[in-house]
This record gives sequence, C-alpha cells and structure tokens, in this order.
Amino acid sequence: MNDYKNDNPIIEKVANDELIEAGLNQAVDTMHRISIKHGFWDSVDGEWNPAEKIALMHSELSEALEVLRKDPNAMSEKTPDCLALAEELADTLIRIFDFCGKMHLDIGKAVVAKSHYNESRPYKHGKKF
Ligand SMILES: [Mg+2]
Repeated sequence: MNDYKNDNPIIEKVANDELIEAGLNQAVDTMHRISIKHGFWDSVDGEWNPAEKIALMHSELSEALEVLRKDPNAMSEKTPDCLALAEELADTLIRIFDFCGKMHLDIGKAVVAKSHYNESRPYKHGKKF
C-alpha cells in the first residue's frame, strides 16, 4: 500500500497527469459509444434532459449506499469477480463518462486541474471534515 501523504515527486506527477487525462478521456469515448449503441440517447423528438441524466448518476450512488447498508462485502451478481459496491460505483462513473461524452466535456483535463488545485489547499481544505 502506498503512503499517499509523502509520495509523488514532480516528474512522476507529470507522467501521472498525462496518463490520468488520457485514460479518463478514453473512458468517456468508450462509455459514450456503448451508450449510443444501446439506445440511451435515442429519443422521438431529439430532446434530452440533462437533469434526468444527473438524477441517474445519483441513482447509482444510492445503489452503492444500499450495498453498504446490506453487506459491504457482497459480491456482484452481474460481474461476479467484483464487489457489488465497486460495481455500483462503476455504474456511477459510466453514467458520468457517458454524460461527459454527450456534453463534449474534457473531464480528463478538469480532473487533473482540480486535483492540482485541491493539492494546494490546506489540510481538510480548512474544514472540520
Ligand atoms: Mg447500478
């Protein structure tokens, strides 16, 4: 296990940034393509509701919460090699990536930029928790 409080020299950080950005944006492209293929962006009038898509992201987090309430160590029935908790969090990410694809959001760049910003903030970002 890494000691995340004391690692990550600058050179490693730059390489990690590039990998994180490219990997996230590749995930966006892949998940959005699969979603289109399965009809999740088809509509009769061409309209779509971004609030509905955000609500569906919430629904996956709620499913993750229910897994925690029932049995955090339960295995997924759909992906038997994964914990059910991981599966529901994966569903959340898949919905977020799909949405980013539709909105043409550069989430890789945003995650790297925001993580650098967060790294510059004080302990617990100056909050109690
Ligand atoms: Mg789910």
